[in-house]
Amino acid sequence: MNKVKFESERMHSGKLTPADLVYAAHSRCPCGAGLAHVLNPVQGTEEWAWDCSAILTGTAIPTGEQGTVQHTARLPFAFYEVKSENQPSAGGATTRPAPMTANEKAQRELAESEALVRVLASQLAEHQREGHQLEGKFRAAQVRHANALRALGKEGGS
Ligand SMILES: [Zn+2]
Repeated sequence: MNKVKFESERMHSGKLTPADLVYAAHSRCPCGAGLAHVLNPVQGTEEWAWDCSAILTGTAIPTGEQGTVQHTARLPFAFYEVKSENQPSAGGATTRPAPMTANEKAQRELAESEALVRVLASQLAEHQREGHQLEGKFRAAQVRHANALRALGKEGGS
């Protein structure tokens, strides 16, 4: 599996919220987001690892789009020692993001709705183009049928 496809699959699996995650006390992904894992990871699955919290929550920019940054590979617990925010020795330290302010939420809604409108506008234009092509074929078929009727001396109608 190539890297781009892998990143994109990780991306779309990410529909978790920060409340669903345990964050690292100090360790961050190269993108700046804290490392995290799901609350009760299942041993032996791909959950059994630290990962980029931006990928897990689906807020990372997909690879290949403008503003793309490099993200960490998943870091299996067996091979990487990462201090969790829940460990007493973390002393309250966490990479968990502060809750979004109302203005940040509004900005995010603006960006998300703008992206949705852009995608749907292009899909709609594509459908309309296909619709026009289909309509052209339909008209041409009607003309052909009328001509066939005429050739047999049966004027008009069908
Ligand atoms: Zn990242």
